[in-house]
Amino acid sequence: MSDSPPAPAKKRAPQLPSASNFIRTAIEADLASGKYAGRTWGGRPGPAKTHLGAPQDPARIRTRFPPEPNGYLHIGHAKSICLNFGLAQDYGGVCHMRFDDTNPEKEEQEYVNSILEAVKWLGFDWGEHLCHASDYFDFMYEAAEHLIHSGHAYVDQQTAEEMRVNRGTLAEPGRDSPWRNRPPEESLRLMREMRDGEHAEGSMVLRARIDMASPNINLRDPVIYRIRKATHHRTGDKWCIYPMYTYAHPIEDALENITHSLCTLEFEDQRPFYDWLLERLAEGGLLLRPLPQQIEFARLNLTYVVLSKRRLIQLVEEGHVEGWDDPRMPTLVGARRRGYTPEGFRLFAERIGVSKADSWIEYSVLEDCMREHLNETAQRRIAVLDPIRLVIDNYPADKEEECLAPNHPQKPELGRRVVPLSRELWIERDDFMENPPKGYFRLFPGNSVRLRYGYVVKCTGCEKDAQGNLVAVHCEYDPQTRSGTPGAEKVKVKGNIHWVSAKHAYAAEVRLYDRLFKVANPGNERYFLEDLNRESKKIVTAQLEPVLKEARPEERFQFERHGYFVADLRDSKPQRPVFNRAVSLRDSWSATAPRK
Ligand code: ATP
Ligand code: MG
Repeated sequence: MSDSPPAPAKKRAPQLPSASNFIRTAIEADLASGKYAGRTWGGRPGPAKTHLGAPQDPARIRTRFPPEPNGYLHIGHAKSICLNFGLAQDYGGVCHMRFDDTNPEKEEQEYVNSILEAVKWLGFDWGEHLCHASDYFDFMYEAAEHLIHSGHAYVDQQTAEEMRVNRGTLAEPGRDSPWRNRPPEESLRLMREMRDGEHAEGSMVLRARIDMASPNINLRDPVIYRIRKATHHRTGDKWCIYPMYTYAHPIEDALENITHSLCTLEFEDQRPFYDWLLERLAEGGLLLRPLPQQIEFARLNLTYVVLSKRRLIQLVEEGHVEGWDDPRMPTLVGARRRGYTPEGFRLFAERIGVSKADSWIEYSVLEDCMREHLNETAQRRIAVLDPIRLVIDNYPADKEEECLAPNHPQKPELGRRVVPLSRELWIERDDFMENPPKGYFRLFPGNSVRLRYGYVVKCTGCEKDAQGNLVAVHCEYDPQTRSGTPGAEKVKVKGNIHWVSAKHAYAAEVRLYDRLFKVANPGNERYFLEDLNRESKKIVTAQLEPVLKEARPEERFQFERHGYFVADLRDSKPQRPVFNRAVSLRDSWSATAPRK
């Protein structure tokens, strides 16, 4: 902690229009050429299958955010959400919220609810466009029969092992399945039997018939349907065959009239199949042109966290954290409880931009975005996190005064509040030193400091218990120096410390959260759990200024000289809020600021 008050907030740059990038360039070119003008709704010909409403779509872009409801959203998803919904907003388009629920075994309503909540929390609205992959199972099946008819798909009865071996490698072409050239009628009969539950799981699959010698392994007759005798959370037991994600996704996009289907780079090698499939269905008259286009961008990699679902689940299930919404978790529910803000996330997404190249973003970039937003919006309050008593010996025991503290130093319109002063105060333990080093300007015997918003006091000594532990600091005040009165500045002091009146203070639980991992790249050199920061949560009983007792859950404050804090969403009770530290005032992890 420094001796001087926090530096005044940096002037925020004026809100610039969003920086251009290759996705915006593509969208602008498509809008300029009128590619999507006058498109018919529903993606397919004939009397419009208008599950989405209006018959005509003006020249608008349509994006979608397509999570699989098998986990809680994390900070990486926030990037994708801000990108998809943000582009739709900027170009007057629409973004669909779509659950990719093609896998019957994994989806859970708990995840669905939490995903919707997170997207809303980030400030986005899908309007009437809440979609599910399972809404299109009928069409997907119809399309599969069409592919069989037209010689573009066949039922394969090889074992999984045979299929694996015959797929070939990057260096070697694959080998045709013995079933590849079976007559379409035979595949059709088997496909219908599969649908009707007449075959065992794993006994056969439907494969696209493309090219077993393609250098792109994804085009070597990918599986598009498999048997799964499982109950689906939306379609129940209607189906016992389910489409593969790579088959379902392009169809979902086309049926929803998505114009730009944005996904992360690992899908780049899938794009030829995406295009192949939609072309086959369009030429067969099942889909209308123009078809959606897939555009890939680099996923977010963030230092000091893990963003893989598998690892996040492990952190929760093995009890390394206290649940999905533990404020240290990189989930959006966790970040919310931590006191991070939607505006901070949107600023972050804007700042990191999108690119085609994988890269790592420093966690401090996210923290800076949170600081920036919180600095503007959070009211200031006083909190003593590591309290020691300060006794003003010449202040009458029964006297009380009301000091005035501004709620926001840059926003006088937010007014001031009363902070009571009395003879005994709480101050930070490290604001006193009996034998200070050179350059220490806070309390030590003989030195004077200003009690912020109050008086100048001169330290006269301290009190210790039998073991030599400090129990109180003593001082005397100069009644002529009260802040805001004419003589206040007559005594010049270098130190300026915060305090809370002991008899008025609200003693509260405050959680000092730190980064969950102690290295930038967890799991890189050791098993990732060995990189956990075991000191990522510290609980203190802090002494807070009395008005903080009224704080409502999710209300955020700057605790002066400490950082930004939020009244915990879950554990706060009326008149008994507990607080979580969102982020300290400065980065204590950077190279120039060694760990405390
Ligand atoms: P899994 O691989 O376990 O399915 P996922 O992270 O891909 O996990 P999804 O629910 O499929 O999870 O993701 C939904 C959307 O969020 C996808 O479009 C995906 O590309 C995007 N997304 C996921 N992780 C990131 C990330 N780290 N950065 C940017 N976008 C991401
Ligand atoms: Mg995924």
